[in-house]
Amino acid sequence: MMNRTKQYINGEWIDSDSGETIDVINPATEEVFGKIAKGNKADVDKAVQAAKDVYLKFRHTPVKERQAMLGRIVEGYKARKQDLIDVMTLELGSPVTKSDKVHYETGVTHFQAAYDALETFEFEERRGENLVVKEAIGVTGLVTPWNFPTNQTSLKLAAAFAAGAPVVLKPSEMTPFAAVILAEIFDEAGVPKGVFNLVNGDGEGVGTPLSQHPDIRMMSFTGSGGTGSKIMEQASKDFKKVSLELGGKSPFIILDDADLDEAAQAAVAKVVNNTGQVCTAGTRTLVPESLKDAFLKKAVEAMTRVKVGDPQSPETEVGPIVSEKQYKQVQTYIQKGIDEGATLIHGGLGKPDGLDKGYFVKPTIFADVDNHMTIAQEEIFGPVMSVITYKDLDEAIQIANDTKYGLAGYVYGKDQDVLKRLAREIEAGTIVINEAPRTPDLPFGGYKQSGLGREWGDYGIEEFLEVKAIAGFYR
Ligand code: NAD
Repeated sequence: MMNRTKQYINGEWIDSDSGETIDVINPATEEVFGKIAKGNKADVDKAVQAAKDVYLKFRHTPVKERQAMLGRIVEGYKARKQDLIDVMTLELGSPVTKSDKVHYETGVTHFQAAYDALETFEFEERRGENLVVKEAIGVTGLVTPWNFPTNQTSLKLAAAFAAGAPVVLKPSEMTPFAAVILAEIFDEAGVPKGVFNLVNGDGEGVGTPLSQHPDIRMMSFTGSGGTGSKIMEQASKDFKKVSLELGGKSPFIILDDADLDEAAQAAVAKVVNNTGQVCTAGTRTLVPESLKDAFLKKAVEAMTRVKVGDPQSPETEVGPIVSEKQYKQVQTYIQKGIDEGATLIHGGLGKPDGLDKGYFVKPTIFADVDNHMTIAQEEIFGPVMSVITYKDLDEAIQIANDTKYGLAGYVYGKDQDVLKRLAREIEAGTIVINEAPRTPDLPFGGYKQSGLGREWGDYGIEEFLEVKAIAGFYR
């Protein structure tokens, strides 16, 4: 049993004030495999105080010192590679190969990207006789979800450390152990006392007092729109800055000149990646009307090849959904797709054959989806593809943008002019042309209801900075 029931506050592992714990469940077995602290307001108060005590000092540490600290974190993170892979496979149900190549890798990438950004990042700018200074915003609350346990935490932590902002992190109570390892890495890397504080617990017990705390200057949140809106409301009482990374329902547009085998393969990968639990998942697959039947045949073939099963097996590509609640949500959406008249052509309700234990779902394809159906408008957070047809490019763009979200968009085909036109006209924070790699120096964030602000690299560092104008500095 993995019992980590202490909080990391002011450079020490201390008992939670509550004395209560939360069970952590392995979604592949439905069994409890560990416990964490169920933190409360008193824990939050202690953690915020520790960060407040150090924020002025940390803000003014030389940039080179913060960069060296990030360098030591990168080394420490790499040294804990196997522990991170093991824990994410257990808590998230992520297949071992993905825990390594996706989850482990993305985490370290963010610390390295922040390190690299500090090589050239300008914290000061002279304007005539005056000076503009960018300095850390102050104590920051970070609240993160379960779908990428190291990525979602590391990208915020790397940016806050680079900026010079001390933090209190509340990771998801469903996947808390990766953050416990991060705390150990920071401790070993000599992150000063109070700069990093970890308070485990649930949203109400820890997230709410954190976003209400008067000494918190900024809340950085990733997760659902409902929680994002609550955090924004709580933060509005004393005008905290809020940075939000919320959901998406991203279009994957296939052009009529695309290689259909490759396009189907790419579109399916976008839907099943991380068992569909990805905010940028391209789950609305837009295909030209004339290619509908040919595409569906290829998509079913590609989906059939996807190996769902035990996350501990290196053969597995898709593991279970993270929790029973999320499993039920996916089932409800599949039922809605059927009820609203979409054609189920692959997968569907229930568990895949032979996988009765664990929150496994069937990778699913719906055809004849109208963009106004629930399965085309709401984030399912499961491996469910909604295939929508379009007559011409104007209609493709209109459908792509007919959503409350604007996190990502994917375009796939050969005609460069058309690809570039679509890339410019889709309303979203990230557009990917023909599966080009998305490097960590690119900004990440959403238009419309997908969020506020930008993360990753130098754009992420900017989020944690205030801007000060000093008139007469050079007089
Ligand atoms: P959530 O928004 O409820 O939880 C995310 C984090 O917020 C967790 O750490 C949670 O403990 C915390 N939290 C919950 N209530 C809070 C409150 N009132 N104040 C402060 N913090 C609070 O998301 P979830 O329940 O984990 O997932 C629900 C849905 O959210 C998913 O089905 C999916 O659609 C979406 N989601 C999106 C992303 C993303 O990356 N955009 C990630 C995870 C989940």
